[in-house]
Amino acid sequence: MNVTELARKLRMNTAELLDLLPQLGFDIGRRAIKVDMRLVDKIIIAVEVYQKQQYLKSQQANVREVHLHDNENKPAENLKQVKIPDVIIVRELADKMNLPVAKVMGELMKNGVMSSLNERIDFTTASIIAEDLGFKVEKISTEELEQKQDEGNSQKLKELIKSEVGSTRPPVIVVMGHVDHGKTKLLDAIRETNVAGGESGGITQAIGAYQATKRGRLITFLDTPGHEAFRSMRSRGSKVADIAIVVVAADDGLQPQTLEVLEMVQKEGIPFIIAINKIDKEGADIDRVKKELSEINLVPEDWGGKIICVPISAKEKKGIDELLDMVLLVADLESFTADATRSAAGTIIESHVDKGEGPVATALVQAGTLHPGDMIVVGNVMGKVKALRDFRNQDVLEALPSMPVKILGLKGVPQVGDILEVTEDKKRIKEVSKTLKARSSMSNVSSVKSSITKQDDKENEGKKSLNLVLKADVLGSLEAIIQSLESFEDPDISLKLIKSGLGLITDVDVFDAVNAGGIVIGFNVKAINSAEQLARDKKTEILYFDIIYRLFEEIEKRLKEMIKPEAIRTELGRIQVLAIFKTEKKDMIVGGKILEGKVKPLTKVKVLRAGEVIGLGDLTELRVGKEKMEAAVLGEDCGLKYVGAPVIEVNDVLEIYQETVKERQIKKLKAA
Ligand code: GDP
Repeated sequence: MNVTELARKLRMNTAELLDLLPQLGFDIGRRAIKVDMRLVDKIIIAVEVYQKQQYLKSQQANVREVHLHDNENKPAENLKQVKIPDVIIVRELADKMNLPVAKVMGELMKNGVMSSLNERIDFTTASIIAEDLGFKVEKISTEELEQKQDEGNSQKLKELIKSEVGSTRPPVIVVMGHVDHGKTKLLDAIRETNVAGGESGGITQAIGAYQATKRGRLITFLDTPGHEAFRSMRSRGSKVADIAIVVVAADDGLQPQTLEVLEMVQKEGIPFIIAINKIDKEGADIDRVKKELSEINLVPEDWGGKIICVPISAKEKKGIDELLDMVLLVADLESFTADATRSAAGTIIESHVDKGEGPVATALVQAGTLHPGDMIVVGNVMGKVKALRDFRNQDVLEALPSMPVKILGLKGVPQVGDILEVTEDKKRIKEVSKTLKARSSMSNVSSVKSSITKQDDKENEGKKSLNLVLKADVLGSLEAIIQSLESFEDPDISLKLIKSGLGLITDVDVFDAVNAGGIVIGFNVKAINSAEQLARDKKTEILYFDIIYRLFEEIEKRLKEMIKPEAIRTELGRIQVLAIFKTEKKDMIVGGKILEGKVKPLTKVKVLRAGEVIGLGDLTELRVGKEKMEAAVLGEDCGLKYVGAPVIEVNDVLEIYQETVKERQIKKLKAA
């Protein structure tokens, strides 16, 4: 391709292009006239990326200028900082910036986003607004957000279970350690020896925790061994376990997970006991374990340190009594108490939907007493306790502190780690439900987006795709549109959402569409002038809608245009050629006998010789004798006009068929 032509295509002059190419790594020479076709595409992409970068740089410079102007009296580093998550409620954004919510809403409106106080907006939108209002924006990572929630959870739980007075409650134990060191076996051994009915009746345990009895005192065991379960609970900020039993196999010593666990419990300040397991095994070496512990500064008691070590055999149920005694001793030292007389609070340790019983959750009651009939708020669900069941699946009329209990009657499934709270305040229940509803749907945004991308990556490889950049005025509409787009599936074409967001269509949106060879769609939003101009320059479409189904209709129309209509072939009959009457440049008149089926004019002809196709053409006229006919059937002799390359010879077989073109339907998009 000529350099001038390429420059024109890229909307630059030739000298500019030749100057730029070496910078982009293309060494075609300053005086080049032609560009190798193999390089053309690469150059176009590189130049467009470069243009986009330049544009973004200039935009940032503008923003900086505006900000400096906005905050003339404040140097840039003194700008107030605001941390924003992926999605935020308008009211919360205003709170974070300490500004009246009306001001934030006004700013949003300027950017084409219509919002109410409880409207959710995405990070990009929120950051533009915050920057316009003179803030320095930082994104809160998911981990940070979770950590924040955890801290909130932890704080909330602390407040909920705080009490001046209280009586002793059973300690809650978690069993941890390296894989295969015997955690499960130990939990089984305790259940069999110290749970009423354990060994003889073989109780069916209904939930992931149980209560054992030792010296007439209850001990609660979380029955999900392994630190994964513990970590997931802990990581939600709720401290569930009081004491950890760290199992170490005497024949294997401290292993990576043991070390990890020990580090974790020490960091959390959870008292722990080392159970040196498998002492029945050949090769068991208790002293070796103790030595290894000492080496990491965990000196066992009998070696002059503070670490409690109990040798056990979970398999032979040896040392279990001693271990439980130690648990009670530690519990006495730590003195775990709770006020059982107040309204209940606790943490969810498992949850699922049961076919018959609906949403079911197991909670560990951590303060107060839970009763059937209590109104509860748990994470983002609420409900009235319909029934309470203990770990044997027996109905109980109360759940005291440290008791694990199955709860029926929730309206939804809470998450593990969610805080359970009994409340009678109806207004609060309503309020919680409202905010939580808004918040819970936040997570949908990213999940919807990710599923669309996933679909694109795997299944849609090699398919033609319609690429969209989507902008809308409110998150609700955006999500609804995204959800419908997500449901679109077709064997030949795919819908790709390059980008979605809130607010006016900007130059960057247009650039994204240009780079993806796609179109920009605005729902209830306009494009800023420069974006419109850019779209015209780059010959990229921006389509505007204010009714969802119109938007879908348009997308459907475009998808339809992308699929090839299906050609349906119907075989009609076969003719054996017996004579050639006339041969012209582009047609022939031949005669033959119908071997099979029924032949009609205005059909297609495939010419076969010895089974191989040697030509294709049209049958335009059919005669039997001298008469023009509309059809001729099996056994009849006929003459026909064949339009196509004149290749037919006597004895060839003509296959006559009809081809109809059928427009293939595509799946309709529906509002979600
Ligand atoms: P976990 O991965 O820590 O839960 O380990 P398991 O409880 O599943 O035990 C791992 C393996 O070690 C199983 O085959 C158990 O039977 C065995 N095991 C557990 N405790 C003992 C023990 O005290 N003595 C012996 N000899 N084997 C044990």
